[in-house]
Amino acid sequence: MAILEINNLSKRFGGLKALDNVGMSVEQGEIHALIGPNGAGKSTLINVVSGSFPATGGKVVFNSANITRRGAAARVKMGLARTFQSGVLLRERTVLDNIIMGFDLHLGESYLGSLLGTPTAHKVQTATRRKAMDLAGFMGLAGHENSIARELPHGLQRNLGVCIALATGPKLLMLDEPLSGMNATEIAAMMKLIRKVRDDGVTMILVEHNMKAVMGLSDRITVLSYGEKIAEGSPAEIQNDQRVIEAYLGSEV
Ligand code: ADP
Ligand code: MG
Repeated sequence: MAILEINNLSKRFGGLKALDNVGMSVEQGEIHALIGPNGAGKSTLINVVSGSFPATGGKVVFNSANITRRGAAARVKMGLARTFQSGVLLRERTVLDNIIMGFDLHLGESYLGSLLGTPTAHKVQTATRRKAMDLAGFMGLAGHENSIARELPHGLQRNLGVCIALATGPKLLMLDEPLSGMNATEIAAMMKLIRKVRDDGVTMILVEHNMKAVMGLSDRITVLSYGEKIAEGSPAEIQNDQRVIEAYLGSEV
């Protein structure tokens, strides 16, 4: 069953067609990679599907609901989450505060509000903190719960970005270049975590330039070039697709 269906999706920025009638279907439980040269429209697709940018045309259906015109916060509540290419965090706050912010986005509650300190709010806060500790442990951040986000090593900051997105309780998580700027050890650790998240039942769209990781992690791959879908298939099919090799892989591998 498809968890996400994109039909004829278009996004224009002035005269530029960043997405041009793109169709894509993401199956429940899969890791679906989205690859293509810089400027192909990968981040734009994530932005339109998450509701950060309105679509110019076409349709986005998530869990059988047409969400094309819904706001970003409503989509998060429905179970659609994304990370940012730049890894947006509350840089001056602790790891735990960042994760709790993710829970707030899901529950539509305010952690800061709970700090006002009614007895009920205090209980909620304790339960939420415990959940945040669990999630930190799950994502390799045990022992770092009280560190300031910006003081974490780069790799762990990216883990935290995924953690915040997971705190929103997603059914579908969109990762925008989760491995960028990482060293080999950090890449191996993040790949392991991505598999763990999938085994936990979260479907993923993975935008990534590291082809070894893409080929190793993905069930299916969609290839964009200049806003158009030029291929879709299994890793083996994509690696042998002449058009993909010419447009992208020839320069990457
Ligand atoms: P990718 O993530 O595949 O590298 P993007 O989706 O970021 O590509 O960009 C696709 C095209 O849309 C590029 O030509 C880019 O310059 C343009 N673009 C992206 N975001 C904006 C924006 N907010 N305003 C204007 N143009 C944009
Ligand atoms: Mg991008």
